[in-house]
Amino acid sequence: MMARLSKSAMLEIIRAALKQSGYETDVVSKTHPFQIVARNNSSEEDLSIYVWNVTHGGKSRAASEYRIQITGVSGLKFASGQKTLLLGIAQQPVSGTVIVGFDATKHREFGSSPSIQVHAPTLLKAEHDGLASETKELDHGKSEIVFAFRPENFGQFIGTICPAYHVAGKTIPTDESSKVSSLDFSKPDLSDADLSGVAAGRKKALIAAAMWVRDQNFRRNVLHVYDYCCAICGLQANLVQGGHIVGVGKKGTDEVINGMCLCSIHHDAYDRGLLAVDENYTIRKNLRMAKALKSAGLAGGLTEFFANSRVGQKIRLPKDLKFAPKPEYLKANLSAKGPQNFE
Ligand SMILES: [Zn+2]
Repeated sequence: MMARLSKSAMLEIIRAALKQSGYETDVVSKTHPFQIVARNNSSEEDLSIYVWNVTHGGKSRAASEYRIQITGVSGLKFASGQKTLLLGIAQQPVSGTVIVGFDATKHREFGSSPSIQVHAPTLLKAEHDGLASETKELDHGKSEIVFAFRPENFGQFIGTICPAYHVAGKTIPTDESSKVSSLDFSKPDLSDADLSGVAAGRKKALIAAAMWVRDQNFRRNVLHVYDYCCAICGLQANLVQGGHIVGVGKKGTDEVINGMCLCSIHHDAYDRGLLAVDENYTIRKNLRMAKALKSAGLAGGLTEFFANSRVGQKIRLPKDLKFAPKPEYLKANLSAKGPQNFE
């Protein structure tokens, strides 16, 4: 049985999800539909959000059928310059919240208390993989693509997926709908072949969304196995990130063993080569870079920084050693930085 949330609890989930996916929010109106302005570094979204609980379809319906039941409004309102979102929130039994994004443009008008379905496999897949989609046939030969996602992918949904898929008046061909329904967003490389038959603009949106989701999954998994502690200094404080050992640009994978949980300072220091970790898990400092910083008059605090970085000691490994960095990847990282520069 899924818990039913009040509208104000749903507003809090939406705000938290936007924050988690990189947006600052201004709630302009707490009256449903919620009016929220969301900003990140590159864009500003003016949102009008309709949201209902996702609940089971009821005894007379299939076991896998869930739905939102639209109540309290007679139609969805759209304003120019604003994105109207039609959402459901599902409280999943295992790890919590999944948000479902329906296509508001396909539900402008409706009869009394209509319901819109989403199916259990989509919710479970979204909970596990971060993003999943399904297709629904609507009247008049039209179809709707429903996306379900974990809260940290909300920003990607409104910024990338919505503009491509939820455009008023644009019909998505049925064969494209079914293709998108079967996509696996957790696949390491969502390729052109997986997306054949998908229109160019929407293909671009799906590839961008898949990359984002993979990145979020990597981060989530790495942080989890390190108990949210920096592998170098041990800081938690919600200041940690998932860092790649062999970078994505150098064909590094998104396996947990190609990652380390690092605080933002140590992540930067590691990526810029001021620090390295050798294949025996020992933390090393870049002497050559330290000297260069000294001659540039930029070595303030550096001695303390190295001490705090536990140079010469071993990183904190995940409790479960099968998730520890792969020595081969650490070696590749150090060779690229020039092992002769390190002490
Ligand atoms: Zn740290």
